Amino acid sequence: MKVYVVGAGAAGMMAAIRAAEMGHNVTVLERNEKSGKKIYITGKGRCNLTNACDSDQLLANIVSNPKFMMSAFSAFNNHDLMKMFEDEGLEIKVERGNRVFPVSDHSSDVIRTLDKMMRDRGVKLEYNTLVTGVETESYSCEEDKKVQARLVAIKVLDSSKKEKRLEADVVIFACGGKSYQVTGSDGLGLQIAEKLGLKVTATRPALVPISFKEDYIRELEGLSLKNVGVSVKDGKKELYSGFGELVYTADGMSGPLILSCSSKIGKKLEEKELILHLDMKPSLSYDQLDQRILRDFKDEMNKDFRNSIDSLLPRKMIPIVIKLSGIAPDKKVNLITHEERLRLVSLIKDMQYTCVKLHDFREAIITQGGISVKEIDPKTMRAKKIKGLYFAGEMLDIDAFTGGFNLQVAWSTGYAAGSYLE
Ligand SMILES: Cc1cc2nc3c(=O)[nH]c(=O)nc-3n(C[C@H](O)[C@H](O)[C@H](O)COP(=O)(O)OP(=O)(O)OC[C@H]3O[C@@H](n4cnc5c(N)ncnc54)[C@H](O)[C@@H]3O)c2cc1C
Repeated sequence: MKVYVVGAGAAGMMAAIRAAEMGHNVTVLERNEKSGKKIYITGKGRCNLTNACDSDQLLANIVSNPKFMMSAFSAFNNHDLMKMFEDEGLEIKVERGNRVFPVSDHSSDVIRTLDKMMRDRGVKLEYNTLVTGVETESYSCEEDKKVQARLVAIKVLDSSKKEKRLEADVVIFACGGKSYQVTGSDGLGLQIAEKLGLKVTATRPALVPISFKEDYIRELEGLSLKNVGVSVKDGKKELYSGFGELVYTADGMSGPLILSCSSKIGKKLEEKELILHLDMKPSLSYDQLDQRILRDFKDEMNKDFRNSIDSLLPRKMIPIVIKLSGIAPDKKVNLITHEERLRLVSLIKDMQYTCVKLHDFREAIITQGGISVKEIDPKTMRAKKIKGLYFAGEMLDIDAFTGGFNLQVAWSTGYAAGSYLE
């Protein structure tokens, strides 16, 4: 069959490799001048290509629509991917948190391996080619009543900016989401899907820094906190709770913990402000922390308050905590009241920030939302309504936490899309 794959990102390349292995005549159309521009910047240029966890953890790290991924993961999972790369000569290593990287620490080696795999299997690549639309005709299928149309052709602007119409049996769209648009994924693929009548759920940035209302946050810029707890609730409902590392930015926070948090609170944050609770001593209960402070205070009875909490908090945080505690900085420690001390404990265990918005797509690692999974068959990635049309990767309404899981979604859905073309 004549197969076009739109987009030479992780999902598109995997789909092309797989479709060629299945004996199809495959051409990849990519708007950029080369493959894998986004892969190149992943994992800070090292490409955290997957996660070596077990199957339960793999699913647990998918934020939106994990159930949809079950079939694709059972056909081609993280361990299959690692084996595939090793068989192709890419040496890989597993780091902290089961994150998998190429031994070379160069994402370019991942792209080179995929380019070679495509070439070895006879995939043709047409760069500087923008796909602008799809032509379908109405069609009814005896066996599958959901099918309403079938693919006829796609419209492209080729490298000389000439409009062309390419007839095809099958097109696999793997155009990515809307994040880091400089890499080529600007949401055009989603517009094309919408024009075809497919439901596209609201998109928003995810795995992205969060902005806070409090002005004093600026004074903390650059401060990084390790082993802290963060939680966000909407009324009684817990939207996010996690433990790890964060860093203060000019207007809020970033870092692994906050990026994960952004994926869970983004939707609610569009409706209203939310309070983020920061626990700077999650390993101590309120009571244990109070006892610890009491002990410190006993040792430093005649010190000013401002000089008594050095061992408890990072230096940059101290003026903020002092200000928020309402305790005079020059108050002698032995004069601090029980009530004041409990206020201090509360601040350290539950410092509260008002989340106002997420940063935008320019800084987002992933797009939340996309083509509704209800439109797509989870085994084959075919659009249920349109014969010949397949989707894979970040275009779909699936997003995951950091750790190699988003690329794994792209690899697995790409593999599925290339496997069952009809
Ligand atoms: C800074 C950053 C770091 C990241 N790090 C990691 C990481 O370490 N591990 C991890 O798992 N995930 C990471 N991610 C997420 C991961 O990169 C994405 O989930 C993944 O690349 C999505 O793959 P994709 O193939 O669906 O889309 P993309 O990689 O975006 O590929 C889509 C391709 O389609 C092309 N295209 C788009 N529209 C058209 C069109 N109309 N015509 C022709 N071509 C078109 C684009 O040019 C692009 O090449 C990171 C993301 C960012 C932004």
